[in-house]
Amino acid sequence: MGSSETKDWSLTPNSLAWSLVSGLELWQWRKDALKMATTAGVPSKELDWLLQELTGIEPLVLRLESFKGRETIKIRYPLPVLSQLWQQRLRQRCPIQYLAGMAHWRHFSLKVSTAVLIPRPETECLIDLAIEALQNSPKPLSGSRQWADLGTGSGAIALGLAEADPSATIHAVDCSASALAIAQHNAQKLDLAERIQFYQGSWWEPLETLKGQLTGMVANPPYIPSGLLPQLQPEVYAHEPHLALDGGSDGLDCIRELIATSGDYLCPGGVWLIEMMAGQATAVAELLRQQGSYCQIQIIADLAGIERFAIAYRR
Ligand code: GLN
Repeated sequence: MGSSETKDWSLTPNSLAWSLVSGLELWQWRKDALKMATTAGVPSKELDWLLQELTGIEPLVLRLESFKGRETIKIRYPLPVLSQLWQQRLRQRCPIQYLAGMAHWRHFSLKVSTAVLIPRPETECLIDLAIEALQNSPKPLSGSRQWADLGTGSGAIALGLAEADPSATIHAVDCSASALAIAQHNAQKLDLAERIQFYQGSWWEPLETLKGQLTGMVANPPYIPSGLLPQLQPEVYAHEPHLALDGGSDGLDCIRELIATSGDYLCPGGVWLIEMMAGQATAVAELLRQQGSYCQIQIIADLAGIERFAIAYRR
């Protein structure tokens, strides 16, 4: 789990008063911070991303340093606090999104904390794949659509589905109450809360009454083999929730569970769609085949060419 120091700042930006700095002060601060970033091997664009989030100054203006002459700049934190945040990025390798308390995903700005995984760019594809899969179902999917996002975390997938399929209802489940609080906050902020129902529990457990009714299930379950976790970047290993990463000894524990249980919940022709890790595709396809409830099993690569997604349909 993430360190408590980072959590404190990232969750409180709204409760702190805005500060004012001069352009010159900020220019000097940025210059020093860039120097430290180079020494620590942190890309300089992360600093400008953080400054953009905290001041609203465009990246190009930051890069050209044309803010230097401004008399005053409004900033979310006083510079000493900003220095502390930057030290957490450099020394403790805290991801910049936790420090800013937000991440960009598809075209959403999502609140994040160390209770949730920072949504990844490759996961963005899941939404388009889910919508496309509706067309390719072997059975007509009539009636009102209902999606399940199991292990919703920040709510990213549920929000993406709610937006991409405007007449559907989304059921978003997570076992972590603090993750659900973040997901609900994001849904309210994006005005999608009426379309998403949130449940606390393990995978399908809270959706017992919807058996046989789901048009589709989408999940980005934990899939990293436990033994590999310590080899992940320190940004991930030391700060992101292991609950969202650790897939057991071969990484497939949760995927196996989702294969075993989803048959009872999906309607005939219903979509089963997950994200997985490089190297897991053959095993996942085989598990789906062996289970017997699924057809049209497909493996799809992400934009980097890695076999990243598995799709199947309820027979
Ligand atoms: N893609 C994430 C990572 O590489 C892992 C997400 C997951 O386990 N679902 O850290």
